[in-house]
Amino acid sequence: MVNADRDRASEQLNSFQGTAAKEGGPKVLTTAHGTPIGKKTASVSVGRRGPLLLQDVAFVDEMAHFDRERIPERVVHAKGAGAFGYLEITHDITQYSSADVFSEVGKKTPLAVRFSTVGGESGSADTVRDPRGFAVKIYTEQGNWDLVGNNTPIFFINDPIMFPSFIHTQKRNPATHLKDPDMFWDFITLRPETMHQVSFLFSDRGIPDGHRHMNGYGSHAFKLVNKDGIEHWVKFHYKTDQGIKNLPVEKAGALSGSDPDYSIRDLYNAIEEGNFPSWTLSIQVMSQDKVNNCGFNPFDLTKIWPHSEFPLIPVGKMVLNKNPKNYFAEVEQLAFSPANMPPGIEASPDKMLQGRLFSYPDTHRHRLGPNYLQIPVNCPFKTRVHNYQRDGPMCTTDNQAGAPNYFPNSFSGPQECPKAKQAESKLVVEGEANRYDEFDNDTSQVRAFWEKTLKEEERQRLADNIGGHASDTQPFIQARIVKNWSMVCEDFGARIRDALLKHNTPKKAEELKALLA
Ligand code: NDP
Repeated sequence: MVNADRDRASEQLNSFQGTAAKEGGPKVLTTAHGTPIGKKTASVSVGRRGPLLLQDVAFVDEMAHFDRERIPERVVHAKGAGAFGYLEITHDITQYSSADVFSEVGKKTPLAVRFSTVGGESGSADTVRDPRGFAVKIYTEQGNWDLVGNNTPIFFINDPIMFPSFIHTQKRNPATHLKDPDMFWDFITLRPETMHQVSFLFSDRGIPDGHRHMNGYGSHAFKLVNKDGIEHWVKFHYKTDQGIKNLPVEKAGALSGSDPDYSIRDLYNAIEEGNFPSWTLSIQVMSQDKVNNCGFNPFDLTKIWPHSEFPLIPVGKMVLNKNPKNYFAEVEQLAFSPANMPPGIEASPDKMLQGRLFSYPDTHRHRLGPNYLQIPVNCPFKTRVHNYQRDGPMCTTDNQAGAPNYFPNSFSGPQECPKAKQAESKLVVEGEANRYDEFDNDTSQVRAFWEKTLKEEERQRLADNIGGHASDTQPFIQARIVKNWSMVCEDFGARIRDALLKHNTPKKAEELKALLA
C-alpha cells in the first residue's frame, strides 16, 4: 500500500510490492543459473556450529557475485542521476542539418539523460559547488547522438593534454587523501584561461537547486551539414523550462549533511509525480565566413559565442517522463561519448572535443568492456548494428551469427552506405604541426560577465565565494588570484582581495598585504 504522506522515492518499495501483487505475487527465488532455492537464510554447515561446505552452491553463487558487484567508478562525473524521455522537434532546421533527428517538426525521438557532479566520488554530496554534467543520448534512426555537455557553456581549459592534471587538482592529495585547496588554486592561477569558468563556478549558478533548474550546453562548437553539403558551425543550448534556481551557500552546505542525494531525489520524485521537467533546445549558428573574421577563436572552449551576434535559434523540446527501473543497469552503465554523431552532425576542430572523441569510448571499454554498446541502455535500438567487429568479453548478442567477418567480401556482408558517404563533409586543414600553448590574454568575456551579466549583489557574492574558498590557500597563491582577476577588472580583483583579507587569519592577511604592496 502506498503512503500518501511520504514522497515517491521513499515509497518505491511499496510501489514495487503493489505491482508484484497485480502480477500474481512474489516470484520463485533462484540461483543465477535458475535453480529454485528452498532456504535462503542459512548456509549449509556441518552441525549447528559449522564449518561450511563448499558444496553449498547457492551460497557460493551469491557470495562470488557479490564480490564482483562494483565496476570501476567513473574517474569524473561519478555521482549522478538519470532519466528517460524524448526530444520533440518544434522548429525546422533542415537548412542546417540533414540529421534524421531534425527531419520534421513534430518528430519525437527517445533519449536518456544523465546529470552529475564532476569531482566527487559516487557517494559524495549533490549540493557541492562543482560544474554539473548534462549528458543527453538520443536514440536516432541513424544511430545514437550523444551531446555530452555541462551546465556551463565553457570549460576551464582548452587543451585536453591538461585535463588529467586539472582533474587531479580536485581529487585527493596523494599523501593525505584529503581535498587540498592549494592544489586547485595553484593550478587555476598558473593557467589564466581558467578564469572564465572559475568565475561561473563561484557565481550563484555554481550550486544549482537540483538538476531540473539548470541549463545544459553542448559547450563545444560542432559542425552541421545539410542535405546539399552546406556546412555551418553551431553551439547547442538546452535552457531549463523550470527556470534557473540556485541554492544559497548555507543551505547547500546543510543539505550536504542532511540529504546528500538531494538532486537525485528531486528528479526522481518530480518524474514519479508526473511533473515532467523539460528544456528548450536551441542552436547558435556561425558561418565559415564569420569564423574567418571572428575576433577570438570560436573553437576555444573557454569562450562563448555572444548572443547579440549569434542569437539562439529554437529547435525543440526535451521532456523527461520516465525514471530508470534499475539504477545500475540504466544509469551506472549508461555510457556517453561525444564521438557518437549521426550523419549531419560532425566534430569541430575544438581541441578539447578532439581529445574527448578518443577519451570517452576509451574509458567505457575499460570500465564496461569492449562490448559496452551491447548493453541495452547503450545500444542504438532505433537502428540495427551490422559491422565486422566480433567476439570480446561479454558478447551478449548472437555475435552477428554467420555473417562474413571480413570486408570486402562476396557473400552479402554489410555494404557501405552511399548516402552516409555523401553526407560526410570534407575537411580542409593546413598549418604547422606544433604544440601551441598560448593564452591569448583576452579576458574581455570574463569582464563582460562581471560587468554586464551579473547584478551588483551577484558580483559581491561571487567575489566573496572565491575569497572564502581560497582563504585556505597559502598567501603566495592568494596574491596570484588577486593579480589574475585584476587583469579582468580592477574592481573584481579588489573585491576578491577584500574577501581574502576578511576570511584570512590576521597573520595570513598581513602576508597577503605585503605580497600585494
Ligand atoms: P548576453 O547578455 O546576451 O548573455 C548573457 C548570458 O549569461 C545569458 O543569456 C545567460 O545565459 C547567462 N547568465 C545570465 N545571468 C547569469 C548569471 N547570474 N550567472 C551565469 N550566467 C548568467 O551576453 P553575451 O552573450 O554577450 O555574454 C556575455 C557574458 O555572459 C559572456 O562573456 C559570458 O561570460 C556570459 N554568458 C554567455 C552565454 C552565451 O552563450 N552567450 C551563456 C552564459 C553566460 P543563458 O541564457 O544560457 O542562461
